[in-house]
Amino acid sequence: MSLVERDLAAVWHPASHFADHERLPPIPIAKAQGVMLETADGRQLIDGISSWWTCLHGHGHPAIVGAITQQAQRLDHVMLAGFTHEPAVVLAESLLEVAPGNYGRVFFADCGSAAIEVAMKMSFQRRRQNGEPKRQRFAALRNSYHGETLGALGVSGTDAYRELFAPLLPDVLYLPTPAHPSHRHEDLRTELGADSPEADQAVALLQAHADELTALVMEPLVQGAGKMAMPGAGFYARLVREAQALGIHVIADEIAVAFGRTGELFASTWAGVSPDLVCLSKGLSGGVLPLSCVLVTEGFDDGFKGGLERSFLHSHTFTGNPIACAAGVASLRLMHKERLPGLAARVEAMTRAQASVAASCAGMIRAHRQAGMIAAFDLNPGDRMPEGGRLSLAIREAGIEAGALLRPLHDTLYWMPPLSITDAELDALAAATVHALEAVLG
Ligand SMILES: *Cc1c(COP(=O)(O)O)cnc(C)c1O
Repeated sequence: MSLVERDLAAVWHPASHFADHERLPPIPIAKAQGVMLETADGRQLIDGISSWWTCLHGHGHPAIVGAITQQAQRLDHVMLAGFTHEPAVVLAESLLEVAPGNYGRVFFADCGSAAIEVAMKMSFQRRRQNGEPKRQRFAALRNSYHGETLGALGVSGTDAYRELFAPLLPDVLYLPTPAHPSHRHEDLRTELGADSPEADQAVALLQAHADELTALVMEPLVQGAGKMAMPGAGFYARLVREAQALGIHVIADEIAVAFGRTGELFASTWAGVSPDLVCLSKGLSGGVLPLSCVLVTEGFDDGFKGGLERSFLHSHTFTGNPIACAAGVASLRLMHKERLPGLAARVEAMTRAQASVAASCAGMIRAHRQAGMIAAFDLNPGDRMPEGGRLSLAIREAGIEAGALLRPLHDTLYWMPPLSITDAELDALAAATVHALEAVLG
């Protein structure tokens, strides 16, 4: 049996339809180096979406591979309850040093959803034991995505993911969110969205429900799974400030947008705000190993001291795994040494590549937008919509033919390549994108 046949018999794939496997079976990947994935039959694919928004420095970066190898030889794993190790301590210290505000502690977990749950439970528990038991409801944005576990799904405002499970999910206050379909990277420097009717409505809702709200959960600047919507830095800044003024904790979900994706180390930096709790994951280990954490504002942990019953009794078995933390330490070093110095130039190159696709495929694209190294194109399928509305699948298939990993979110095609992508590689990504669009919609 081939690997694909064995896969189809044994593996249940995430976020996939069984019905699609016949048309586009899982593609065996044998190797990866830099921005390229190599299929088992020797084809090269540009990783246009950083293998689900993770890979920052290119695949197989020697500094990260070396850190992982050395750490695995020295100490593979030990529980973080009652023990500690250098990689966890150094990573926590390094994060606190560069974090967007005055953060005092790092709580480690192992995936993005778990980080969101940690932050939600911390906020909730702090109210319980600090005389605010009525504050037990969460607010979140419409069109948001915070993960798939029940707590994280509970604060996600995207019906496609939550509808089926709605009976299991908490009663969340959803706030309207502006859309700027043609957001430009320069808009991150402006107050875009702050004066929108949606911002006014959202603020009014926060004010009306402040007494019952413990926290507002938000993705800063880019709603990733929400078709890369960009509500505006001004919108984000206004909501953070308003919530904090009302005593509502702000949980920033920087899982997709931190570590340079928007052109700054943290997306919150653009808005000049310091959320109370910041969730990190995808790029935290350089995108190589599962790892997540919550940055906790200085003093927030005081509410958990002074008595056993006040402790935060939350854990994940692999919390702070040494090998993952060692990758994280190496990744942050690379960030400062190799990524951040050239990032503005990379963002400009993204702008050019994006403009070239928009010009070549004008009739097929309704709007395009950019925030740093994230670019999105809303497609205009018109009467070329593939059978069954499977536009995303058709483009994914055509992208692979053209030599790129593209995985549109419904009718929005996006790029989120490794930050190390070169001009030539961006040109190749743009060319493959144009090929794929012409094949499906041309
Ligand atoms: C991916 C993602 C999550 C969930 O992370 P997992 O590791 O998949 O659980 C949460 N929030 C955002 C913004 C994400 O992009």
